[in-house]
Amino acid sequence: MILDGLSLKFVRWASKRISVVGSGPSGFYTAYRLLNKSPDPIHVTLWEKLPVPYGLSRYGVAPDHPEVKNCEDTFAECAETFNQGKDGRKFSFIGGVTIGSDEIPLQQLLKQEDAVILAYGCQSSRALGIPGEDASGVFSSRDFVNWYNGHPGFANDKRFTEFDWSQVHRVGIIGHGNVALDITRVLMTNRVDEIWQPTDISRVAIDKLKQAPIQEVKMIARRDFIHSKFTNRELRELWEMERFGVRGKIDQKYFHPTLFNDDQLKDRPFKRRVEMCQEYSTPFDKRTKKNYKKHGPPPEERSHWVLDYLKTPLQTQTNDQGRVQSLQLCENELTPDNRVKQLPNSELNYNVDLLITSLGYKGQPMSEFKPLAVKWLGDRIANDRGRVLTTENEPIERLYAAGWIRRGSQGVIATTMEDSFQVADQVLHDLQNQQNLERIPPVDLSNIRHTTWQDWEKINQSELNKGKQMGRVRSKYLTEPEIYNYLSMNH
Ligand SMILES: Cc1cc2nc3c(=O)[nH]c(=O)nc-3n(C[C@H](O)[C@H](O)[C@H](O)COP(=O)(O)OP(=O)(O)OC[C@H]3O[C@@H](n4cnc5c(N)ncnc54)[C@H](O)[C@@H]3O)c2cc1C
Repeated sequence: MILDGLSLKFVRWASKRISVVGSGPSGFYTAYRLLNKSPDPIHVTLWEKLPVPYGLSRYGVAPDHPEVKNCEDTFAECAETFNQGKDGRKFSFIGGVTIGSDEIPLQQLLKQEDAVILAYGCQSSRALGIPGEDASGVFSSRDFVNWYNGHPGFANDKRFTEFDWSQVHRVGIIGHGNVALDITRVLMTNRVDEIWQPTDISRVAIDKLKQAPIQEVKMIARRDFIHSKFTNRELRELWEMERFGVRGKIDQKYFHPTLFNDDQLKDRPFKRRVEMCQEYSTPFDKRTKKNYKKHGPPPEERSHWVLDYLKTPLQTQTNDQGRVQSLQLCENELTPDNRVKQLPNSELNYNVDLLITSLGYKGQPMSEFKPLAVKWLGDRIANDRGRVLTTENEPIERLYAAGWIRRGSQGVIATTMEDSFQVADQVLHDLQNQQNLERIPPVDLSNIRHTTWQDWEKINQSELNKGKQMGRVRSKYLTEPEIYNYLSMNH
């Protein structure tokens, strides 16, 4: 389209500038929606603290679930469509820059943009808060997952790379969400090359993990079977590991079909879960449904996982080298109003050589939230339909939140997408009703090291090429220096 002087002037005047902080699924889906739905010319800039995009899609989702990462194709297509500008809509990616730091304060963006959307996810972990949680061999699920997924901040973390994995026979995992199940799957099939070889799991991590002669992984929950947070798909994957000699166990005390009443079994996913556990706990030739015999009779048991219930961790004990060797717990019961009550004199000990706490990711406030009077809810940003609120519950002009930092660390990519679309629609609605706000010129990036979308395309291609040579889907660069070195040698 050739623009004459007049319409060019109009585009300049009318073009809205929006910054999105964080390039995980929420940031990218927000950008996607804004670019596709804005009735006016718009320039969306996606800021990412890592030199590469995609957040937890790249560094959270399990490497053996490549289909979940298909959202990255949508994001890449969006970036390619709008990167050069299309019909007055432009997309920019700026990686390797932390917003809310001295380099680029959040307040700078608020002054230069018509709207700023915080989509920076949950950057820490919920802690157990028990003595001994800092012992060697006790890791949060977030750190562990980042490590095996090759996150540049964790890929060479000495807590993992110098840990003696050959001593890991028994593992405890605190938590019963899908992340706990992902980790169990990784640990229990650590020596099954046919699963991990083709994936983009960090080579450093899988080589270390393979050294572990794991016999048992116990997933420990404070509540009972009916309150388990994992989904049936993930649970089924665990049961299906029987084809590698990895069996599942649940004590009859916690799981038995007669424990559940008709009302509870009206919930179809729950009913399926009960059926699944019942069938897989039955010897192969006695199973009644074909669905649970898909892979043929399983080999002898080599190792097993356990779903364990109604326990509260109290403390860990360590050996002379400060390495975890056991976990002390007590038993719980659920009160009629569904609270967890610890039972007196019910202490017990589990021997564990590795303990993973999987209690959820936790959002962190930016240091500038104080001067901006942003209301913080302990793990996420207070907001009204995405509009960030002050401590007085007033919306802050131009400032929005989307994704996990808005809702807390729950929800899969599909729910994150819906959430981001709602917030983007709210932003577009507000922009329509907003007077043209004053804006200062955008920050000068010439002296700030950063990556662009073209840089990511080079990195992406190089990772795919390296992977292809090794028969893998991708081989990730594991450190920031590696990424920047590659880019400096391939201008
Ligand atoms: C271990 C794990 C496995 C999962 N598996 C699945 C699955 O199989 N299927 C599924 O559908 N969902 C899965 N999910 C859920 C899914 O990952 C989330 O729904 C989604 O990633 C949340 O997106 P987000 O953009 O809010 O956060 P994130 O994905 O965390 O993205 C936030 C981004 O912001 C960046 N950032 C942080 N601070 C700053 C800053 N100050 N400046 C600039 N950038 C910043 C981060 O580097 C990151 O890239 C999984 C989650 C986890 C933790």
